[in-house]
Amino acid sequence: MTSDYERLAALNKNHVWHPFTQMKDYVHSDPLIIERGEGIMLYDVHGRAYYDGFSSVWLNVHGHHVPELNQAITEQLKLVAHSTLLGMANVPAIELAEKLAGISPKGLNKVFYSDSGATGVEIAIKMAFQYWHNQGVRGKTSFITMNQAYHGDTIGAVSVGAIPLYHDVFRPMLFPSHIIPYPYAYRHEGGEMKALEDTLAALRNLLETRADEIAALIVEPIVQGASGIIVMPQGCLSEMAALCRKHGVLLIADEVATGFGRTGAMFACDLEDVSPDLMVIGKGLTGGYLPLAATLATDEVYSAFYGDYQEQKTFFHGHSFTGNPLGCAAALANLKLFEDRNIVEGVRTKASFVEQKLAALKDRPHVGEIRQKGLMVGIELVQDKDSRAPYDWAERIGVRTSLRARELGMLTRPLGNVIVFIPPLASSQAELDAMTAILSESIISVTEGGAVT
Ligand SMILES: *Cc1c(COP(=O)(O)O)cnc(C)c1O
Repeated sequence: MTSDYERLAALNKNHVWHPFTQMKDYVHSDPLIIERGEGIMLYDVHGRAYYDGFSSVWLNVHGHHVPELNQAITEQLKLVAHSTLLGMANVPAIELAEKLAGISPKGLNKVFYSDSGATGVEIAIKMAFQYWHNQGVRGKTSFITMNQAYHGDTIGAVSVGAIPLYHDVFRPMLFPSHIIPYPYAYRHEGGEMKALEDTLAALRNLLETRADEIAALIVEPIVQGASGIIVMPQGCLSEMAALCRKHGVLLIADEVATGFGRTGAMFACDLEDVSPDLMVIGKGLTGGYLPLAATLATDEVYSAFYGDYQEQKTFFHGHSFTGNPLGCAAALANLKLFEDRNIVEGVRTKASFVEQKLAALKDRPHVGEIRQKGLMVGIELVQDKDSRAPYDWAERIGVRTSLRARELGMLTRPLGNVIVFIPPLASSQAELDAMTAILSESIISVTEGGAVT
């Protein structure tokens, strides 16, 4: 008789195609099958417990199976699960929009809902494009993005993406974007100040020569996530924002990963007092519970779409589940917990604790750099510390380290040679202590002990 695990594993292998996963590797491994969650732990179908060390891909805030969030969803479920936002409204979508306008950087008063970070980015791109069109400005049709940027996987989002491994194959069907260098200090021969200067000089040069062709700049504020958790030098974001403003180019802040307390401020833009024209939020918006995203716009952007019907300035965009009431109810409960539990302030304290716990790793022979902003940590492993020579990708050092962490009871997913640690914001000090210990042990055993393959 086959066990339930064997039955599920066989069905998984036969029918499920997993994202960002080479299925040939995957089908030959024993799949981890999650059955339930409690607090910051996830439990597989065997009952084995794992710390959720990457917040189920960067979105969980208060842990799993949170009574307050469960209740908000079940209360809403008794009323209505879904009704459309096309020309109609629903109660939680209204309440949430007002709350979001209240907590976001100043000027962002209008909320356009969608269902994932990528759709939120698509909306921001289309809004920026049509913003100029609606005002009779012709030619401002292209976008600036940063090297190694990641903004989601739909075609518009991929067009402003700049990670060759993910994006190059699609290049022939994408619209071209201007790419400026991202200040990656660790791998810049001139160090941090020079990296910052080069980025700003490239942006300034582009804006001085071609601002009349450019609709907007899109940026992952303060921390570039998928490229390897790379933190901007201080002042970079605010300088970029000022340059955009000066040259009449809109600024789109993609806060999908950095929003909702992750970096130690409600939004990363707050760290440098930046007010973008458009801001995309997702991931932590519902506490990581349900697929809901939003694109926030200033009154200025909104007013370019506001006019008599015959003027055809309408934003013709929407999704079946735009403004889903269950998602909005979860998001409202999430924001209430942020307030009640002082989550953002807590992140700052927890971030210093994590920094201390990881400090000893800096001396290890294969730890090149530890990058951290709030509870967003990336540890770049290198073959040779002095020359900073990276591990060959075929060694899959990140994958092996993450597998070792899983054996030790913590889940995470690497970005190439960068080990990611993005714990739920609600993690207690004791839990952070346990998770950083697993992180350190897995890095040391794999890079120094020649352990598991
Ligand atoms: C995850 C992410 C996205 C895409 O969000 P999805 O919900 O996965 O579509 C976009 N931008 C950034 C910065 C992200 O980290």
